[in-house]
Amino acid sequence: MGQANPCPICHARFLPLNPPADERAYRSCPNCQWIVLDKAWVPSLEKQKERYLQHENSPENPGYIEMFEEFIRVCVDPFVAGGKRILDYGCGPEPVLADLLTKRGYAVDTYDLFFKPDENYKTQKYNLIILTEVLEHLENPITVLRVLSERLEPQGVISIMTLFHPNDSEKFSKWWYRRDITHISFYTLMTLREIAQVLGMDLIFSGSERMAVMRLERLK
Ligand SMILES: [Zn+2]
Repeated sequence: MGQANPCPICHARFLPLNPPADERAYRSCPNCQWIVLDKAWVPSLEKQKERYLQHENSPENPGYIEMFEEFIRVCVDPFVAGGKRILDYGCGPEPVLADLLTKRGYAVDTYDLFFKPDENYKTQKYNLIILTEVLEHLENPITVLRVLSERLEPQGVISIMTLFHPNDSEKFSKWWYRRDITHISFYTLMTLREIAQVLGMDLIFSGSERMAVMRLERLK
Protein backbone atom coordinates (compact mmCIF):
# COMPACT_ATOMS: atom_id res chain seq x y z
CA MET A 1 0.00 0.00 0.00
CA GLY A 2 1.73 3.18 -1.16
CA GLN A 3 1.46 6.64 0.38
CA ALA A 4 -0.90 7.81 -2.33
CA ASN A 5 -3.46 5.08 -1.70
CA PRO A 6 -6.60 6.14 0.12
CA CYS A 7 -7.94 4.62 3.33
CA PRO A 8 -8.99 1.02 2.46
CA ILE A 9 -11.95 1.29 4.83
CA CYS A 10 -13.66 4.53 3.74
CA HIS A 11 -11.50 5.70 0.77
CA ALA A 12 -10.75 9.12 2.28
CA ARG A 13 -7.29 10.59 1.79
CA PHE A 14 -4.85 9.88 4.66
CA LEU A 15 -3.06 12.54 6.68
CA PRO A 16 0.54 11.95 7.80
CA LEU A 17 0.99 11.32 11.52
CA ASN A 18 4.55 11.58 12.83
CA PRO A 19 4.86 11.19 16.59
CA PRO A 20 7.84 13.22 17.89
CA ALA A 21 10.69 11.16 19.39
CA ASP A 22 9.76 8.22 17.17
CA GLU A 23 11.31 7.63 13.77
CA ARG A 24 8.29 5.59 12.70
CA ALA A 25 5.63 7.31 10.61
CA TYR A 26 1.90 6.63 10.54
CA ARG A 27 -1.05 7.62 8.36
CA SER A 28 -4.31 8.66 9.89
CA CYS A 29 -7.72 8.75 8.23
CA PRO A 30 -9.58 11.99 9.04
CA ASN A 31 -12.89 10.38 8.13
CA CYS A 32 -13.05 6.96 9.85
CA GLN A 33 -10.18 7.62 12.35
CA TRP A 34 -8.19 4.52 11.37
CA ILE A 35 -4.44 4.87 11.97
CA VAL A 36 -1.87 2.66 10.27
CA LEU A 37 1.91 2.40 10.47
CA ASP A 38 3.73 3.15 7.23
CA LYS A 39 4.66 -0.04 5.41
CA ALA A 40 8.40 0.64 5.72
CA TRP A 41 8.11 0.14 9.49
CA VAL A 42 5.99 -3.00 9.51
CA PRO A 43 8.18 -5.78 10.96
CA SER A 44 8.90 -8.93 8.97
CA LEU A 45 6.82 -12.05 9.69
CA GLU A 46 9.85 -13.63 11.40
CA LYS A 47 10.22 -10.64 13.72
CA GLN A 48 6.50 -10.70 14.44
CA LYS A 49 6.54 -14.38 15.34
CA GLU A 50 9.49 -13.83 17.68
CA ARG A 51 7.54 -11.09 19.44
CA TYR A 52 4.36 -13.19 19.77
CA LEU A 53 6.32 -15.93 21.49
CA GLN A 54 7.29 -13.41 24.18
CA HIS A 55 3.65 -12.57 24.96
CA GLU A 56 2.54 -13.95 28.30
CA ASN A 57 -0.53 -15.65 26.91
CA SER A 58 -0.32 -18.83 28.91
CA PRO A 59 -3.13 -20.35 31.00
CA GLU A 60 -0.86 -19.84 34.05
CA ASN A 61 -1.23 -16.07 33.68
CA PRO A 62 -4.31 -15.22 35.80
CA GLY A 63 -4.68 -11.68 34.39
CA TYR A 64 -4.95 -13.12 30.92
CA ILE A 65 -7.64 -15.64 31.92
CA GLU A 66 -9.59 -12.89 33.69
CA MET A 67 -9.50 -10.70 30.58
CA PHE A 68 -10.89 -13.55 28.48
CA GLU A 69 -13.56 -14.38 31.07
CA GLU A 70 -14.76 -10.79 30.87
CA PHE A 71 -14.68 -10.89 27.07
CA ILE A 72 -16.83 -14.05 27.04
CA ARG A 73 -19.27 -12.59 29.58
CA VAL A 74 -19.66 -9.33 27.62
CA CYS A 75 -19.06 -10.20 23.95
CA VAL A 76 -19.94 -13.89 23.56
CA ASP A 77 -22.59 -15.19 25.99
CA PRO A 78 -25.19 -12.46 25.28
CA PHE A 79 -25.03 -13.06 21.50
CA VAL A 80 -24.66 -16.81 20.90
CA ALA A 81 -26.13 -19.74 22.79
CA GLY A 82 -24.07 -22.72 24.00
CA GLY A 83 -23.53 -25.41 21.39
CA LYS A 84 -23.12 -22.85 18.62
CA ARG A 85 -20.08 -22.79 16.33
CA ILE A 86 -17.26 -20.36 17.02
CA LEU A 87 -14.03 -19.57 15.15
CA ASP A 88 -11.24 -18.09 17.27
CA TYR A 89 -9.27 -16.29 14.54
CA GLY A 90 -5.70 -15.46 15.62
CA CYS A 91 -5.75 -17.77 18.62
CA GLY A 92 -2.03 -17.38 19.39
CA PRO A 93 0.46 -20.03 20.53
CA GLU A 94 -1.87 -21.51 23.17
CA PRO A 95 -5.63 -21.93 22.74
CA VAL A 96 -6.50 -20.28 26.06
CA LEU A 97 -9.71 -18.64 24.93
CA ALA A 98 -10.78 -21.66 22.87
CA ASP A 99 -10.42 -23.89 25.94
CA LEU A 100 -12.57 -21.55 28.04
CA LEU A 101 -15.24 -21.51 25.33
CA THR A 102 -15.16 -25.30 24.85
CA LYS A 103 -15.73 -25.74 28.61
CA ARG A 104 -18.89 -23.64 28.21
CA GLY A 105 -20.22 -25.97 25.54
CA TYR A 106 -19.36 -24.03 22.38
CA ALA A 107 -17.96 -25.88 19.35
CA VAL A 108 -14.70 -24.03 18.67
CA ASP A 109 -12.32 -24.01 15.71
CA THR A 110 -9.03 -22.11 15.89
CA TYR A 111 -6.83 -20.45 13.31
CA ASP A 112 -3.54 -18.59 13.64
CA LEU A 113 -1.26 -17.45 10.85
CA PHE A 114 1.83 -18.46 12.84
CA PHE A 115 0.73 -21.11 15.31
CA LYS A 116 -2.23 -22.89 13.72
CA PRO A 117 -2.23 -22.18 9.97
CA ASP A 118 -5.13 -24.56 9.28
CA GLU A 119 -7.37 -22.96 6.64
CA ASN A 120 -10.22 -25.40 7.11
CA TYR A 121 -12.35 -22.47 8.36
CA LYS A 122 -12.59 -21.24 4.77
CA THR A 123 -15.08 -24.03 4.02
CA GLN A 124 -17.03 -23.73 7.29
CA LYS A 125 -19.82 -21.52 8.63
CA TYR A 126 -19.89 -20.01 12.09
CA ASN A 127 -22.38 -18.33 14.39
CA LEU A 128 -19.58 -16.27 15.92
CA ILE A 129 -16.06 -15.32 14.88
CA ILE A 130 -13.76 -13.92 17.54
CA LEU A 131 -10.74 -11.68 17.01
CA THR A 132 -9.06 -10.81 20.31
CA GLU A 133 -5.86 -8.78 20.04
CA VAL A 134 -5.80 -9.37 16.28
CA LEU A 135 -7.00 -6.20 14.56
CA GLU A 136 -4.01 -4.16 15.74
CA HIS A 137 -1.74 -6.54 13.80
CA LEU A 138 -3.55 -6.19 10.45
CA GLU A 139 -2.27 -4.00 7.61
CA ASN A 140 -5.63 -4.19 5.89
CA PRO A 141 -8.48 -5.16 8.24
CA ILE A 142 -11.06 -5.02 5.45
CA THR A 143 -9.44 -7.82 3.44
CA VAL A 144 -9.34 -10.14 6.44
CA LEU A 145 -12.75 -9.24 7.85
CA ARG A 146 -14.44 -9.57 4.46
CA VAL A 147 -13.25 -13.17 4.14
CA LEU A 148 -14.39 -13.86 7.70
CA SER A 149 -17.80 -12.21 7.28
CA GLU A 150 -18.44 -14.60 4.38
CA ARG A 151 -18.00 -17.49 6.83
CA LEU A 152 -20.86 -16.27 9.04
CA GLU A 153 -24.26 -17.91 9.32
CA PRO A 154 -27.22 -15.54 8.81
CA GLN A 155 -27.39 -13.17 11.83
CA GLY A 156 -23.82 -14.26 12.65
CA VAL A 157 -21.65 -12.13 14.88
CA ILE A 158 -18.04 -10.92 14.94
CA SER A 159 -16.68 -10.08 18.41
CA ILE A 160 -13.57 -7.96 18.63
CA MET A 161 -11.08 -6.94 21.27
CA THR A 162 -8.50 -4.26 20.46
CA LEU A 163 -7.70 -1.19 22.55
CA PHE A 164 -9.31 1.90 20.97
CA HIS A 165 -6.88 4.74 20.25
CA PRO A 166 -7.25 8.13 21.98
CA ASN A 167 -7.97 10.07 18.74
CA ASP A 168 -5.63 12.87 19.78
CA SER A 169 -2.19 13.10 18.16
CA GLU A 170 -0.45 14.16 21.37
CA LYS A 171 -2.02 11.35 23.41
CA PHE A 172 -1.39 8.93 20.55
CA SER A 173 2.32 9.83 20.60
CA LYS A 174 2.56 8.85 24.27
CA TRP A 175 0.25 5.86 24.02
CA TRP A 176 1.78 2.63 25.37
CA TYR A 177 -0.27 0.36 23.10
CA ARG A 178 1.52 1.49 19.94
CA ARG A 179 4.99 0.72 21.36
CA ASP A 180 4.65 -3.01 20.67
CA ILE A 181 6.38 -3.32 17.28
CA THR A 182 3.71 -5.72 16.02
CA HIS A 183 0.88 -3.26 16.73
CA ILE A 184 0.53 -1.56 13.36
CA SER A 185 -3.08 -0.45 13.04
CA PHE A 186 -5.42 1.31 15.43
CA TYR A 187 -9.16 1.90 15.68
CA THR A 188 -11.88 3.88 17.40
CA LEU A 189 -15.53 2.94 17.61
CA MET A 190 -16.09 5.16 14.60
CA THR A 191 -13.60 3.04 12.61
CA LEU A 192 -15.35 -0.15 13.64
CA ARG A 193 -18.75 1.29 12.76
CA GLU A 194 -17.42 2.17 9.31
CA ILE A 195 -15.92 -1.31 8.87
CA ALA A 196 -19.22 -2.92 9.89
CA GLN A 197 -21.05 -0.85 7.31
CA VAL A 198 -18.60 -1.81 4.55
CA LEU A 199 -19.18 -5.48 5.41
CA GLY A 200 -22.99 -5.15 5.44
CA MET A 201 -23.01 -5.54 9.23
CA ASP A 202 -24.21 -3.46 12.18
CA LEU A 203 -22.17 -2.49 15.22
CA ILE A 204 -24.48 -3.71 17.99
CA PHE A 205 -22.35 -3.44 21.14
CA SER A 206 -19.20 -1.78 22.49
CA GLY A 207 -17.60 -1.65 25.90
CA SER A 208 -14.51 -1.01 28.04
CA GLU A 209 -12.77 0.98 25.27
CA ARG A 210 -11.58 -2.29 23.77
CA MET A 211 -14.56 -4.47 22.91
CA ALA A 212 -17.06 -4.39 20.08
CA VAL A 213 -19.60 -6.72 18.51
CA MET A 214 -20.97 -6.53 14.98
CA ARG A 215 -23.79 -8.59 13.55
CA LEU A 216 -24.62 -9.64 10.03
CA GLU A 217 -28.16 -8.44 9.42
CA ARG A 218 -28.41 -9.23 5.75
CA LEU A 219 -29.29 -12.73 4.70
CA LYS A 220 -26.65 -14.00 2.27
ZN1 LIG B 1 -10.97 5.87 6.60
